[in-house]
Amino acid sequence: MLNEIKQQIERIKAKGAAYVDTRWYPYEETNYLIMWNGNLKDTTFARESGVGIRVLYQGAWGFSASSDMSNLPALYDKALDNAKAAAERITFPIRLAEKDAIQAEFSSPCKIDPFEVPLTDKVKFLKSMDAKMDKDGVTQRVCDLTFVRKKIVFLDSEGSQIEKNITEVFSQMQVTGVDDQGTSHERKFKLGQRGMPTRGWESIDEQVYCENAERIVDEMKQVVAAPVCPTDDRSVILKPSIMFLQTHETIGHALELDRILGYELAFAGGSFVTLQDFGNLKYGSDKLTARADATLVNSPGSFGYDDDGVPAQNNLLIDHGLLVGAITGRQMVEEANAMAKKQIFQGSGGCNRASSFYRVPIERMTNINIDPGTDGTLDDIVKNTEKGILLDGDKSWSIGSNREQFHFATEIGWLVEDGKIKNVVKNPTYKGDTVKFWNSLVAVGDQSTWELRFVNNCGKGQPSQIMQLGHGVPVCCFDHVRIGE
Ligand SMILES: [Zn+2]
Repeated sequence: MLNEIKQQIERIKAKGAAYVDTRWYPYEETNYLIMWNGNLKDTTFARESGVGIRVLYQGAWGFSASSDMSNLPALYDKALDNAKAAAERITFPIRLAEKDAIQAEFSSPCKIDPFEVPLTDKVKFLKSMDAKMDKDGVTQRVCDLTFVRKKIVFLDSEGSQIEKNITEVFSQMQVTGVDDQGTSHERKFKLGQRGMPTRGWESIDEQVYCENAERIVDEMKQVVAAPVCPTDDRSVILKPSIMFLQTHETIGHALELDRILGYELAFAGGSFVTLQDFGNLKYGSDKLTARADATLVNSPGSFGYDDDGVPAQNNLLIDHGLLVGAITGRQMVEEANAMAKKQIFQGSGGCNRASSFYRVPIERMTNINIDPGTDGTLDDIVKNTEKGILLDGDKSWSIGSNREQFHFATEIGWLVEDGKIKNVVKNPTYKGDTVKFWNSLVAVGDQSTWELRFVNNCGKGQPSQIMQLGHGVPVCCFDHVRIGE
């Protein structure tokens, strides 16, 4: 198959294409199990394979994809024909930033292939987790497991040949209880990574789950019995299980370069960030350093090489508060530099990814992280807070279409007074204006507070593409935030 693909790439190149690439998926498998109040509600196994072809011709892309690879020449011709048709309609001729031709292989770290684990073991694990959550006051218990295994071979007309073997594990457990007003409250635990170097079946660590099952049941019951969150202005301390979403929505999505250039307007929205802001905008306080780091060991945001064949990088986005970088691929950096009439971006940041062989790559978050700071442990941050609220657990969120404002609700909040954690409150919320909020960042926790959270459901693009990524974030404290409305 490899030789046939190479021949076709050469053939289309000879017909005048400026660039051709191919992502061949010999297989992509997913296995999903969900248990609901002790019953195995669903278990699915899916497998697909196929090929996606991009052709760049006279400044326009053409794409074709199929799971039927019996007539490859027709698929390549179709991609070329699509590019020719598009070339008559483009307003900005596409160019691709330079890259090196690479021959490489990447495998995500995995000890025990979850697809080799018998179904009975997976169900047994869910059963035992369900039993841990089956306590008085819990009206609903849900736990799930998602496994992904895929092989992707990337070839292009510039001489790159990259093979990727990716294994991913996602998992979540959640309990629900009902208060005396009949309102339900949830508390959940999602599998993340705290120093764990691999992510096969071995990452399903029973002890970690047991501890967290006990904790979420206990915290949910506290929320059910708690008074309602007050409405006022105070310091807000965000733990990693809400800090990741704050980072995702108001740094990650806002800094996707295609969105900044207006390519997501019809679907997920734009960004308040303009090309003039790079090197100028004080996005946050001096304590804020954010990066797109695809080189972390063991994260769904680490994949070796993106779907342009560009190697994983660790790039600064915000350097001590100053906006310096974006989430970029080969195409958008060229367009942005041309529009700005200066070189803002020095080549691709390696963030172009497609969710499957039949989708085109677009700019996606890798691991969008906040560097740990120098303000100590969570205890230290609490001690230095006169009047605040400690928040955890993403519950709901709404964001301005250009990511300029936000409103988040969390699963739990603990009031903080005079440096001490006080009582739990229910329905905690906070809101703010993105740039003002990040500029009110007054404390960033040290490495002990830093956790890598996984995201398996980031949506973007038309047609929609669901992507997997990560956020490594510390505990952070923001001053003068409106809560409870
Ligand atoms: Zn997202």
